[in-house]
Amino acid sequence: MKIAKSFRWEMAHRLQCHKGKCFNLHGHSYKMEVEFEGSVDSNTGMVLDYFVVKDIVAPLVKKLDHSVIIWEKDKILIEKISALNSAHVIVPFESTAENLVGYFLEKISKSNLPKNIIKVKVRVCETENTYAEDEMVL
Ligand SMILES: [Zn+2]
Repeated sequence: MKIAKSFRWEMAHRLQCHKGKCFNLHGHSYKMEVEFEGSVDSNTGMVLDYFVVKDIVAPLVKKLDHSVIIWEKDKILIEKISALNSAHVIVPFESTAENLVGYFLEKISKSNLPKNIIKVKVRVCETENTYAEDEMVL
């Protein structure tokens, strides 16, 4: 059985390696769907309580909401955003949708999930028309 919950946040970024428009600092209304697969607990009738899902994922999203995500190699942007005293999160990767999926998958899989959960899937949508998705077997 699978259950899923979606989350939304606003975040700015730029892609240093991009040769086109995405090199510019810009923002997205991100949407993420997190799916958990596992057996239904016979006592609770649930795979995983949605409130537990929120407890795990919401703090990760809150950290990024209304911030600028910056690759640690983008020294000039770190300097400029810091000078503005604007919220930012420095990460060791280019902030593509693909890398954000990996970021969330790693953090969610390391949270204290119950033993019945066997797989986690994360889908990050940068726009209404695009997404990246991956899954991790636990
Ligand atoms: Zn973008």
